[in-house]
This record gives sequence, C-alpha cells and structure tokens, in this order.
Amino acid sequence: MSDFITRFAPSPSGLLHKGHAYSALCAFAAAQNAGGRFLLRIEDIDTTRCRAEFEHTIMEDLRWLGLSWEAPVRRQSDHFDDYANALKKLEKRGVLYRCFLTRREVLSEIARAPHGVGEVYQGPAAPMSPDEEAERLARGEAYAWRLSLRAARDVLGPRWADLRFIEEGLGANGEQGEIRAQPERLGDVVLARKDIGTSYHLAVTHDDALQGITHIIRGQDLFESTHIHVLIQALLDLPTPIYRHHRLLLDETGKRLAKRDFAATLQDIRASGQSALALQESLRPF
Ligand code: GLU
Repeated sequence: MSDFITRFAPSPSGLLHKGHAYSALCAFAAAQNAGGRFLLRIEDIDTTRCRAEFEHTIMEDLRWLGLSWEAPVRRQSDHFDDYANALKKLEKRGVLYRCFLTRREVLSEIARAPHGVGEVYQGPAAPMSPDEEAERLARGEAYAWRLSLRAARDVLGPRWADLRFIEEGLGANGEQGEIRAQPERLGDVVLARKDIGTSYHLAVTHDDALQGITHIIRGQDLFESTHIHVLIQALLDLPTPIYRHHRLLLDETGKRLAKRDFAATLQDIRASGQSALALQESLRPF
C-alpha cells in the first residue's frame, strides 16, 4: 500500500447533496488510484447545528454511493480536549488574543478599516490593556480566541515569508502548483468560538495531521482557508499536506449547490429511482 491517505470530512448539519457526493467520490477515487487509504471524518464541532440523525444518513448515503472507509470513524465532537490542547499550545506561543467583540462590532471594524485592506478583520489597532481584559473576564464576558497575524509573523521570523503549499487541483482563481500562503487574506481568524471553544480552522488542521492525511481533496470553496491552515501547521509544528481543490457543482442557474437552496439531496435522488452508478457516471471525479 502506498503512503497516500485522504479523507472526506462532512459536517452533519444537513443532508448530503450532489456536490458532497462529487467531493466524496473525488477523494475515494484518488485513494483507489494511488492504492492508498480513504478515511471518513465527521466534523460536528458546531453542536448548535449538527445532529446525530444527519450523521447516520450521511453514512447510509455514502455506502449507497459505493464508498467504504476505515473504522473507527473520527467524530470531532468526541475530541474537544484535543482542540483545547492545540489551542493551549498556540496560546503559549503567544499568537492568540481574546476578542470580546460581537459579530456586529467585528463587521463595523472591518467597514472602518483603511480602504483596500479587504473584507477581513485585521485585529485591534492596539492590544487590550491587561486591566480592561481582567475587568471583562471578572464580569464573565464571553470571548473568542483569535490568531494574531502580527504575533505569528514575529514568532515565525523568516519562516513567515516561506509558508508554502502545493496545489495539485485548482484554487478558486485557478491557482496551481507551489503557492505562497498569504494568511493576511483571511486576517485575524477565530480559532476558538465563544460558544464551542474551537473552530473549523483549528480542528481541521489538528485532525488532518493526527490522521496522517497526505492529500486534502475538497471543494474550491475551501481554497482560501488553506492560507490559514498552512500558518497553523507551521505554528503547531505539523506537516503541510498536498492540496487538491476541485470545482464546485453548479445548479441550472449557474449557482453553486448549497444546503440552504434545497439542492436535490442524495436521499431525493435515491427516492426518485436513480441508481448510484448513474449518479457516479454523471459526476466523474476531477
Ligand atoms: N467539514 C467541512 C465541510 O463540510 C469540510 C472540511 C474540509 O474538507 O476541509 O465543509
């Protein structure tokens, strides 16, 4: 067996649609072609939106599609301690800060930022004073942990300019090959949300490393996140896998398929009598 390991990592916050089937098939086919391994990971840290019945149906849909994966399946909600430990490591490296802002306040900070900086939160103009922070903590105010790009740049020194990854698929703007990671495209992201104590960026980078994922195969909508994932990998001393972002499936009007638009789910497709083989043939990985 080769040392190729990839995964499909759905969030059980709804039913799978064709776009998910395409993603899962791309990863599965790549593992088969490489004689490698295919893992399924359930990304359910958002306990406010994820539900056990969706997880069950997702697995049923994937089996119907003809996919199989290794046991045990990693379910992220069973591992909040792991993400808390990773967060602690980053805190010790001095690259995190507490952010007490509400969503609305963050949006108005973004709107006030100098023109051209982009639609992302660049962090506070100056760090909060220890007195104010202590006072807010004493009042029990909720906070998120954000990654400070300024601090990360200082900690990494010359390594900052050398953060890179290999894109074997296609980035959202057609990027390919060796790409320099530009974390500033995402700004000071949240690594631990106020409500759940972790975040997609932290959990996904932690788990991909833990599970030895060598190739990350996922939709182009997640390409931008890679710029931050590569930085988190450097800060946590984790390897950077190879990335293959795939195109997104579009509906008849040219919009990308999404759960919220009631795209035909795999359950609907099955109920309509279409066979898994016919669906597979219509999707053709990569
Ligand atoms: N859980 C993510 C999603 O459902 C995918 C994560 C990834 O592939 O990096 O969108």
